Amino acid sequence: MRLRHIPGAEQMIEESPYVIQKPEERKGKWHEVFGNHNPIHIEVGMGKGKFIMELARTNPEVNYIGIERYSTVMLKALQKREQLQLSNIYFMCVDAKNMAEIFEPGEVARIYLNFSDPWPKDRHAKRRLTSPQFMEVYDKILSRDGRVEFKTDNRGLFDYSLESVPEAGWKILESTFDLHHSEMAEGNVMTEYETKFAAEGKPICKLTAVR
Ligand code: SAM
Repeated sequence: MRLRHIPGAEQMIEESPYVIQKPEERKGKWHEVFGNHNPIHIEVGMGKGKFIMELARTNPEVNYIGIERYSTVMLKALQKREQLQLSNIYFMCVDAKNMAEIFEPGEVARIYLNFSDPWPKDRHAKRRLTSPQFMEVYDKILSRDGRVEFKTDNRGLFDYSLESVPEAGWKILESTFDLHHSEMAEGNVMTEYETKFAAEGKPICKLTAVR
């Protein structure tokens, strides 16, 4: 997702109390940011943030961090965030490939990847968020029993992930090609893209990966 440039977006993000500036300075000290030792769950590529804000609202015992690399998209999430009274969620405007500089090994308990950009060309495969390169980053920061949960409507990206994830040394704990009509649907929280695709009747794929 990329939106038209919004003048002043960067400055608004720099001044927001909900966005962590220089997140690499928090490495190993994220519990200080939240003021507790609750587990940290991250969404990589949160877009406008519907999913992660809903999770933060319903799970006060979990700390959430939404990562989005585009400031114009982040701004949309911030507009929503400002209307909520929540102390367990922050955002970061960074590229997820740098997460190992931002979190200590084991500092993160769960990573959500929702409707990640498919990057269909082979020469862009490294940019897919389920590529071995990204799985290596997640391996560095996730706790031993941590997990990655990935949802997409894109069958090509999903089929790729069913191969790339085990190739990177991970186990696929469970998977489905039709989340909304499967046992994995229980407790499912819909993202912005998921709501749109489900309304169009597209099946949603999901996998959960552990080491
Ligand atoms: N997760 C949301 C949903 O399901 O509605 C948004 C999906 S949107 C297709 C994917 C988002 O991931 C885009 O906003 C994009 O900018 C972001 N993104 C993709 N690669 C990223 C990366 N390496 N680091 C941070 N954000 C990324």
